[in-house]
Amino acid sequence: MSRLFEKFTVGSQEIIALSDGAPERALGGFFNGVDPTLWTAALGIASPDEGVPFNFGTFLIRSGGRSILIDSGYGAPAKAMGILGGGELDLRLAEAGVKPGEITDVIHTHLHGDHIGWNVVTDANGKEVVTFPNATFHIAAKELDYWQNGAPKGEERTETAAKHTVPIAAAGHIKTFDGDVEVLPGITAFATPGHTPGHTSYIVSSGGAEVLIVGDAAHHPVHFEHHDWIPGVDLDPAESTRSRGKLSALAADRGSMVTGGHFPILTLGYVRRVPEGYRWEGIGR
Ligand SMILES: [Zn+2]
Repeated sequence: MSRLFEKFTVGSQEIIALSDGAPERALGGFFNGVDPTLWTAALGIASPDEGVPFNFGTFLIRSGGRSILIDSGYGAPAKAMGILGGGELDLRLAEAGVKPGEITDVIHTHLHGDHIGWNVVTDANGKEVVTFPNATFHIAAKELDYWQNGAPKGEERTETAAKHTVPIAAAGHIKTFDGDVEVLPGITAFATPGHTPGHTSYIVSSGGAEVLIVGDAAHHPVHFEHHDWIPGVDLDPAESTRSRGKLSALAADRGSMVTGGHFPILTLGYVRRVPEGYRWEGIGR
């Protein structure tokens, strides 16, 4: 069974993987058009309908007096699903000893509902409340611009992105960035567009070691081996395929440890170059 909370270290930096819901899920939707015999064999399962551990995950990094979250979970929809740990990020943060008001920064990979779900919560009186009132929200300028100006108006995803960003923007708490810049000390953005236009992965460095935290550029580690196994939810499949290639090359060349918000806790591994392309090498735990 997936875990909901686990610590790991990168150099001298402790990072806590926190789940906001850990369902068993059939993953066929993440391998659009791929012959099921191929992807089920790669995942080591017998049938496309077989549930696989999945996660709506976030990462907590406490560094230099800051408490930083990478993405903010799924929130109310995960609670409604009735899955293990669904919509319980508040409890996981409490276990980590962090109060919502102590979160100084939220860094987003992208603005889909399962990554921004705790930004704004509707309380019992129907009032919209910002969960992390003292946090600066770091979002790629391209990503914010897409959801504010480019995304189809009236669609649920667009409305969800607005719900979880408009009150924060109104409070002046959004900080955008362009390109592969150091967003905070030791945390560097790496543009991986395609899933969404401004989708971003992050390299967290400490003491000569680093971990590459991917958002939805990979929903499963097998995506590092098969870049064209395209999730149906990718807006630009050609671009997301290129991004999986860039990510794999980066991870392999730098020898970065790799994890991702949708991988069950705790999944860490390396991407290695092999004659046929790339191979995921999970770190046994
Ligand atoms: Zn996602």
